[in-house]
Amino acid sequence: MSSTFNILIVGALFCVLMLLVLISLLRSGIPGIREWCLANAFGCVALVLYAFGRELMPLIAYEVANGVYAAASAAMLAGFRRYYGKSAMPVVLGAGVLLVVAAIALFHYSVDSYPMRTVVIAVFQGTTCLAIATTIVFGRSDWRSHYPSLFTVAMAAVITVGHGIRSAIYLLNTGEVSSLLQPSPLNLLFVSAGTFILPVLTFGAVMLVHDTMLARAELVANRDFLTGAWTRRAFFEHADRELLRTRRMGRQLSLLLLDVDHFKKINDTYGHAVGDLVLIDLVKRAATVVRAVDFFARVGGEEFAVLLPETSRDAAAGVAERMRAIVAQSATEKGRAKPAVPAYTISIGVSSVRGFESLQDLMRRADAALYAAKAMGRNRAVSEVEAEV
Ligand code: GH3
Ligand code: MG
Ligand code: MG
Repeated sequence: MSSTFNILIVGALFCVLMLLVLISLLRSGIPGIREWCLANAFGCVALVLYAFGRELMPLIAYEVANGVYAAASAAMLAGFRRYYGKSAMPVVLGAGVLLVVAAIALFHYSVDSYPMRTVVIAVFQGTTCLAIATTIVFGRSDWRSHYPSLFTVAMAAVITVGHGIRSAIYLLNTGEVSSLLQPSPLNLLFVSAGTFILPVLTFGAVMLVHDTMLARAELVANRDFLTGAWTRRAFFEHADRELLRTRRMGRQLSLLLLDVDHFKKINDTYGHAVGDLVLIDLVKRAATVVRAVDFFARVGGEEFAVLLPETSRDAAAGVAERMRAIVAQSATEKGRAKPAVPAYTISIGVSSVRGFESLQDLMRRADAALYAAKAMGRNRAVSEVEAEV
């Protein structure tokens, strides 16, 4: 048994392993996993066909084996495209695979040349790997999946270069190797490196999938399911960090506490579902007032907190007033797009960090100001000075 045979069989087993790993991730529903499964299934079949090439009829050993291997690369690319929300391009990739099969047939029946068949498959694989790298580079919507993206892009780039070198060597030195199974040093090097391609790309894909699952879990933990505002948990975590930063830098930090007026009455009059719509509407309206650096969180049933970094009490009172007004506007809007949301108002308490006080103190004073706003008749923003706390 030649060493290349062993390497090809190990490669096929690797594909089976990666397939089993991917199957465990299928239930996440993340796009691309099906295509990556298909890629490893194709890869496994192709590597076994390559390994038994000498025992098989030439049509299966050449055209079918190379066609299936090309299909594996195409499915890999389709998976990355689907992962980044793009079309799998089945027609283009299918046509590419057919083209590979036609070129293999040309360098089999017309001019029997193993090096040229190798060049054909190397060019196709190099192109798909380059496409994978560019899909990742241009497909990233943020910088969160830093390591998985970098890993996969780097690997895809290395594989592309490897295929380029392989093509160049075989184009320039066509006489040396006559079969994939020939145990020449050059062949051994390329075959061993080549069998790792699909598993390596799959490792990258698995890391990306894990990263997406982590992002989803973080979203569930940190974002309120109903309104999309940050959760109470996220608020306290963020506020603690922000308070430390404010003290360190000697900056200002203000807090708004919002509460929907007579919310119980809204629920009682229109039903709980309409009450929910009011909360969603409130977050939407408030979002038009807050900056990207502000932290808007739902800290209770119909209570919200907004942390305003580097904002004085007066500036915060201005923000609070704008927020109150934009919500109160709901009562006067004519021909409203969403008549399902009844008119409602909010009251707001404003406080600002003093010296080295704790978050609890800051919140206590905003809460007292909010209480004063309620006592003064609701639908108003009151800052801690007015509330005399
Ligand atoms: P005030 O003007 O003094 O704030 O009066 P209020 O009626 O708004 O105050 P209260 O705290 O008595 O009522 C809050 C209500 O909010 C009671 C609770 O049933 C309701 N609530 C809490 N969470 C939700 C929610 O997620 N959806 C809906 N629809 N209602 C909620
Ligand atoms: Mg309340
Ligand atoms: Mg209320």
